[in-house]
Amino acid sequence: MRPYKKTFSYRIGRLFKEVADVLFPRQCCICGRKLNSDTDNICGVCFTNLPFTHFKGKKGNTMERLFWGVTEIEQANALMYYDIDDPSRVLLHELKYNGHDDIGVQFGRIMAKDLEETDFFNTIDAIVPVPLYYKKLKSRHYNQSERIAQGISEITGIRVETQALIRIKDTPTQTKLTKEERQENMEGAFELKDTTRIAGQHVLLVDDVITTNSTLLACINALKHANGVKVSIMTLALAGKHSKRPPQYTPV
Ligand SMILES: [Zn+2]
Repeated sequence: MRPYKKTFSYRIGRLFKEVADVLFPRQCCICGRKLNSDTDNICGVCFTNLPFTHFKGKKGNTMERLFWGVTEIEQANALMYYDIDDPSRVLLHELKYNGHDDIGVQFGRIMAKDLEETDFFNTIDAIVPVPLYYKKLKSRHYNQSERIAQGISEITGIRVETQALIRIKDTPTQTKLTKEERQENMEGAFELKDTTRIAGQHVLLVDDVITTNSTLLACINALKHANGVKVSIMTLALAGKHSKRPPQYTPV
């Protein structure tokens, strides 16, 4: 990353932000504390308490294992765990259902910076966000996965590809379905509209949260209709029974 030069316009922008924070105080989306002008959406305390996976793109991580013996992927990574008691649940809810699409861009940048020291992005040609069905996109006004992809792109410089993969089936919410029902629910939900945009490329498929592999698997099956496509996967959060944390170290 280039060092951020504190130019005149930077200082003016900062001043406006500080004034705006006094007139219209912003709150942490998790604990409600007042945010200072250096932070967006989430305060420093809540950020520190997020259940980060620390996978750092390591081979054989829990996320990759979801696809072992199912389909071939290059690599997979999730930034944090997601559970009913986790602060990440509130974060994801704000991103998805409460109009806070800026959380997606912010955490997309964090997801990319988390892997900056690794070779995770080295051979990736395009970032493909999991598409929403057009009616859902119309009512939500944004695709949260596309916002995450934008954040990743800002840091890596890799293009976001939204014209190749489309969602052709409106799927009901999957939260109460079994693994088998989820798979059935997602079958044929995606279609590769334009094979030329990704043929022969290494694609990074991006979603907000993964619970079972059913949604991403349906996307991968569609993407592989293009010749010579390789797929890697990245999500903001990893949910479900796979989100078992390593045992906590207890000092004696
Ligand atoms: Zn907070």
